[in-house]
Amino acid sequence: MTTKCLIIGSGPAGYTAAIYASRANLAPVLYEGHQPGGQLTTTTEVENFPGYHEGVNGPQLMDDLRRQATRFGADIRPGFVTAVDFSSRPFKITVDGRDVIEAQTVIIATGATARYLNLPDEQRLIGAGVSACATCDGFFYRGRTVAVVGGGDTACEEASYLAGIAEKVYLIVRKPYLRASKVMQKRVMENPKIEVLFNTVTKALIGKDFVEGARVVEHSGTPEEREHDIAIDGFFLAIGHDPNTKLFAGQIALDEQGYIPVYGTSTATNVPGVFAAGDVADPTYQQAIVAAASGCRAAMDAERFLVETGE
Ligand code: NDP
Repeated sequence: MTTKCLIIGSGPAGYTAAIYASRANLAPVLYEGHQPGGQLTTTTEVENFPGYHEGVNGPQLMDDLRRQATRFGADIRPGFVTAVDFSSRPFKITVDGRDVIEAQTVIIATGATARYLNLPDEQRLIGAGVSACATCDGFFYRGRTVAVVGGGDTACEEASYLAGIAEKVYLIVRKPYLRASKVMQKRVMENPKIEVLFNTVTKALIGKDFVEGARVVEHSGTPEEREHDIAIDGFFLAIGHDPNTKLFAGQIALDEQGYIPVYGTSTATNVPGVFAAGDVADPTYQQAIVAAASGCRAAMDAERFLVETGE
């Protein structure tokens, strides 16, 4: 049987698309991928999602969205999409390298993944001091010293979170200012446990089996350049994300950063019947509420597409 609407991804965009598509009688099937609930499941407190006036923790928010989708009959399945064939309709989607599902419309909501600095020992030390998720791994650094790299909202949020656990937090910022929102900047600057190292880049990690330090360079490439080591037990990356679109290369158009371009205010991609929602199509806002809203639009676009094509 051909699925009317297949949704790939289980963040706010995917689940919201599932809520709207199931209420529109499209009997959507959603594949959750490797990280059910998406990036917000690695967040602690979400304070800016409308409706949760006292804040909500990330996993709880995602569970609420998931339950709302299943309440209306969405078929939410474990499984990772490993290949897609958008060359003709119905589209063919391969799950876990085995099962091939046919779908009349597809909503791509695969989100984005944290970036690393590509330092020599960075990948080797993942799980041994290097992490891209403070809320996942912060617990291990009680009373220790850690560094967070980045100057955006994520970095400030992670530094503040870690300051509640660790003894000391360095925030390594390559520019002379923070890019984060004013409220987050204030929180960081006023926290006595956080030391912000402006104009600083990381050159190398120190440590054989575990992170023991980092070699950092202040004012790199200028006459004031100064290299020194900081002793740390944990090194957290918070330098942005890359869209999860490798799977779709050659099947739909991608921009130079790998994001999926959509047409105007719709969620339509260059392949009729394939729609994109959430961070995978949004290099600008990357907010849960924006992702959720675009999931709604994608479901409505898919429904209209099916009506217009008489399917
Ligand atoms: P951003 O792109 O906003 O910030 C990335 C940061 O990492 C920047 O400071 C950037 O530096 C730095 N950076 C990038 N590459 C490197 C590198 N190679 N070496 C050193 N530093 C580097 O990403 P975020 O993940 O912080 O935020 C993404 C979006 O999500 C934003 O819109 C943000 O507002 C939102 N967000 C909102 C939250 C909230 O409201 N609670 C929480 C978390 C995120 P530079 O400034 O020099 O480019």
